[in-house]
Amino acid sequence: MDKLKEHYENLIKQYREIFVTVLNTMQGEINQLKHEEIDNYLNVEVETHLNLQRKLIKERRNNYSCKMCGACCRLAISEFSPTELLQKSLNGDKYAKEFISVFTPYNDESEAEKQFKLYVDLINETGEKVYYYHCNKVTEDNKCSDYENRPSICRDYPDNPIQMLHPTCAYIGWHESIQKIVLTIKAITEIREHFRNELKKGNI
Ligand code: SF4
Ligand code: SF4
Repeated sequence: MDKLKEHYENLIKQYREIFVTVLNTMQGEINQLKHEEIDNYLNVEVETHLNLQRKLIKERRNNYSCKMCGACCRLAISEFSPTELLQKSLNGDKYAKEFISVFTPYNDESEAEKQFKLYVDLINETGEKVYYYHCNKVTEDNKCSDYENRPSICRDYPDNPIQMLHPTCAYIGWHESIQKIVLTIKAITEIREHFRNELKKGNI
């Protein structure tokens, strides 16, 4: 079994277990409430809990720091082609604007693969169509030659708890440490939506 498939299968198994636990907990809590208290529970109490979990994800990130491997500057991916990014930028998309201000496309995938075979293989295993980019401002010793002016997409990287990181990235430990929290947030969000709908229909 390839590594990525095994990883996703484990994630799905873990998510199912978390989903059942969260469902039973929320159902139990709702059962204790009067009908008129359920709206507050779903929209205030659960939201407060979700915000605490989101805060925890950010705080855990502070336990890690960039070790300057240079990988995220030498190979960035986007689901959008250069033309699409340009169009999005012209339409006012801030992320696209920043992205094309630093990243230029690789001529073809094999060029990216030559430098980062493992990462490109992992991306290919997902079956998703992506485009590969690199930044010309990274120096040979992995420093940013325009550090003071680097855009927020560089300053904040990586800020997405579910994006696929380079195998050499120092934040992999952060991703691993928050995996259960991310799955729990997803389960709570989905189950809350279910109970909101049930409340609207008058079933609870
Ligand atoms: S601008 Fe600097 S930090 Fe951003 S991708 Fe380029 S080299 Fe890396
Ligand atoms: S891939 Fe991770 S460790 Fe490497 S330069 Fe980027 S943020 Fe730093």
